[in-house]
Amino acid sequence: MIYPIRAYGDPILRIKCEKITDFGDGFQKLVVDMYETMDASDGVGLAAPQIGKPLRLFMIDSTLFDKENKDGVRMAFVNPTIVDETGEKWDFEEGCLSIPNVREDVSRKAKLTLQYQSITGENFEKTFDGMTARVIQHEYDHIQGILFTDHISAFKRQLLKSKLTKISSGKVNVHYRMKFPKRK
Ligand code: ZN
Repeated sequence: MIYPIRAYGDPILRIKCEKITDFGDGFQKLVVDMYETMDASDGVGLAAPQIGKPLRLFMIDSTLFDKENKDGVRMAFVNPTIVDETGEKWDFEEGCLSIPNVREDVSRKAKLTLQYQSITGENFEKTFDGMTARVIQHEYDHIQGILFTDHISAFKRQLLKSKLTKISSGKVNVHYRMKFPKRK
C-alpha cells in the first residue's frame, strides 16, 4: 500500500518518535508499505513520520545516487541511535519528499556510527560515510522531529517562507501523492 507523504507544516513531522517494541505482522507490513511508498515517490529515504506514523523507523536507498556505486545500500533502520559523528563537515544540496521542489545546501559531518535494529529486531552497530551517511543523517533528523530546513541560515529560511507556506496548503506541483495540513 502506498501512503500519501505528509507535507511541511504537518505537526507529525515535529514529533520525537517512539521506540518500536512490536516486530510482528503489522510492523512487517508497515516496512513493506514504506519501501513501496519510497519507491513510488523516487525517494532515497523515507522516515515513518513522513507517512503519519510517529515511530523510530526509516529506510534508505543510497544506491540511487550512483548505480555503479557499490557503497550504496538499501536497508531499513529500527530504533537507531547515533553514537558518534566524526570527520570534516561537507555541504550537499538536500531535498525532502515532505518539502517538494526545495533544495538547499546542508553542512553535515562526513561519518557516523549508528546503533540500530534490523526489521527482525537484531542489534547492530555500524559506521557509515559518503552519501549513505548523508541520507541516514537526514532521515535520523526526521525521527527526532527535525527537518533539513532547520539547518539553513535564518536568512535563507526567510527567503523560503512563502514557498513553505504554499507547500503546507497544497499549492505545489508534485508527481506523488501527498497529504497537506492546510488544504481546504
Ligand atoms: Zn526528508
